[in-house]
Amino acid sequence: MLATSKRSNAIPTSAVRQLAAYEQEATKKGVKVLHLNIGAPDLDVSSVFFQRICAIESHQLQYVPSAGVPELIQEVQTYYKNMGASFEKNEIYVTTGGSEALLYAFIALCEAGDRLLVPEPLYSNYISIAKVVEVEIDGIPTTIEEGFHLPSKEEIVRHIHPKTKAILLSNPANPTGVTYSVEEVKRIAEIAKEHHLWIIADEVYREYIYDGFATKSFSLLPEVAQQTVIIDSISKRFSACGARVGFLLTKNQELAAIFLKLCQSRLSGTTLEQIGAAALYREDMDFIRRSIPEFKERRDVMCDLLAKVPGVTLRKPEGAFYLMVGLPVEDSLDFSKWLLTEFAVDQTTVMLTPGAGFYTTPDKGKNEVRIAYVLNIESIKKAVAIIEAGLKAYNQR
Ligand SMILES: *Cc1c(COP(=O)(O)O)cnc(C)c1O
Repeated sequence: MLATSKRSNAIPTSAVRQLAAYEQEATKKGVKVLHLNIGAPDLDVSSVFFQRICAIESHQLQYVPSAGVPELIQEVQTYYKNMGASFEKNEIYVTTGGSEALLYAFIALCEAGDRLLVPEPLYSNYISIAKVVEVEIDGIPTTIEEGFHLPSKEEIVRHIHPKTKAILLSNPANPTGVTYSVEEVKRIAEIAKEHHLWIIADEVYREYIYDGFATKSFSLLPEVAQQTVIIDSISKRFSACGARVGFLLTKNQELAAIFLKLCQSRLSGTTLEQIGAAALYREDMDFIRRSIPEFKERRDVMCDLLAKVPGVTLRKPEGAFYLMVGLPVEDSLDFSKWLLTEFAVDQTTVMLTPGAGFYTTPDKGKNEVRIAYVLNIESIKKAVAIIEAGLKAYNQR
């Protein structure tokens, strides 16, 4: 018998994928689907990206240096310097999206059977990528009521296992939008220091923080510099998910040497996109300043309207462009399916992401959904009205 590997079979199928078939059904029936499930910003990429690529004279498309295009590494170094963080060029590695950066960090830091500690609900691809390298994830429980902020130091420490190698967290976070205070960031650093754990800081949403909420990048904590890996990406920062340009940064030289070997093992990252990305950093950092007010308004409208829907629980998150909400249903997967297959208002319905996929602890998040506010204001208003009418009809069946 031919068999496929256990570790690849252990990768969970995403709930989003599960719903895709129902979405196609809805579309076939002529129902318009408002996508609150997509985790990618909808703004146009700055034109400097395309202009720079069009200006490339050579029509050869060769491998670029494994660690990344020097022009881009230079720009990323400057970007961090402007934040107050100092990285040498050989401490910055360009990857094929933040996803590859996560994979390389897990490979470099963990043996098969090791564990990662992650506040949950968590980014579901953490689970998938960990399965690939046979690493298990333990959740640090957080709740809607606390706005998904971290529990006390004692409570976090209680979840450390003898095989725990690293604390992994996204800040601001997908899927909750929670942004950790300076004190929470320092709490994690203290725990990592005292318990000899690596910190994998996924900061791909770094700039997406509203109302001036104060946090701190792990790249600005000298006391844990030798045990920290920063995961970064242009996907969210520049609304350029399809470019596939991400970064790994560490001040630990031994680890940096491993990252170089991993990058060399796949020869090269993207080529044109890295050159375009350098132009984004060099010529249009202002893109972020322009897009923040748009996302803040969407968050405010989304949260204010949802808060008025009977039975819905939520706390307004500080950052990113997601929120997890509790719904007055027992099974949010069933409700999400039902919205796509049985319900529409003016031939329009809504696609949500069921919450359970964002938990590693069984039976958690069953009444929750993740909502991404990556639609314009008018569509957001329509979507909330559909959710409200849908909940009423669903619960009266
Ligand atoms: C989107 C995302 C990433 C990285 O995505 P890439 O497109 O591969 O750069 C990493 N972490 C989180 C939490 C994300 O939401």
